Amino acid sequence: MSGTARVIVLGCGTSTGVPAIGCLEPTCLSDDPRNKRLRASILIENEDANLLVDSGPDLRQQALTHNIRRVDAVVYTHHHADHTHGIDDLRVFNFIMKKTIPCYAYPDTAKVLRRNFRYIFGEEEKYTGFRPQLTLADVDGTPFEAAGMCIRPFPLEHGGSLVMGIRVGDFAYATDCSGISPESMEILNGVRVLILDALRHREHPSHFTVEQALEVVDILKPEKTYFTHTNYELEYHETNRSLPEGVEMAYDGLEIEIAL
Ligand SMILES: [Zn+2]
Ligand SMILES: [Zn+2]
Repeated sequence: MSGTARVIVLGCGTSTGVPAIGCLEPTCLSDDPRNKRLRASILIENEDANLLVDSGPDLRQQALTHNIRRVDAVVYTHHHADHTHGIDDLRVFNFIMKKTIPCYAYPDTAKVLRRNFRYIFGEEEKYTGFRPQLTLADVDGTPFEAAGMCIRPFPLEHGGSLVMGIRVGDFAYATDCSGISPESMEILNGVRVLILDALRHREHPSHFTVEQALEVVDILKPEKTYFTHTNYELEYHETNRSLPEGVEMAYDGLEIEIAL
């Protein structure tokens, strides 16, 4: 496949979002739009099809902000609430597009999605409202096609969970990770633009710190790296000043051109 696509960062905040409810830290009290981060998600706009990565609790707001009128496929990185709990809002795209939306996830993630959202995925369930019309396909390590693009999945460690990273052309998205296996690093090799988890400076059992993320950057040396899933400890401007060339904080609304 060839051509270009556009990545839009719909949200780059940690699970609480930034500001977090009730938080009195300076970043949460900041008026700067760069310090307002919705829950982590991206949209990849191909020529005439859109791929959504995760449907977090802020999906409605993200879709309204960016005037998203179509979602042709959804990739679920993992089952955590901050990546899935906006799933019901996918039904508006069924209304608009009048078709079922294919979703893709690792088997462990798909199992939890089928259990947590039985009213969507459970065939026997009686449900009177209009539920999202979604299909859910189990993904293994094999590249698959979604929204007209070749998606190369690779596993990421996320505490005890497995998260799907994706490589699309010269771009890769690796949210929610605390470790990357040599096999996954191999798939990431040669990536030009990388969006990578970097929660904060202090260690965390299921997320990279800024320092750990920089170690990954140092090995892969992408032309450009953007940190995502960041919390209040990482004020946008102050953190950017401390980062090496080619590495910066993502922000909600960031757009990146990629080559497929
Ligand atoms: Zn998360
Ligand atoms: Zn997570």
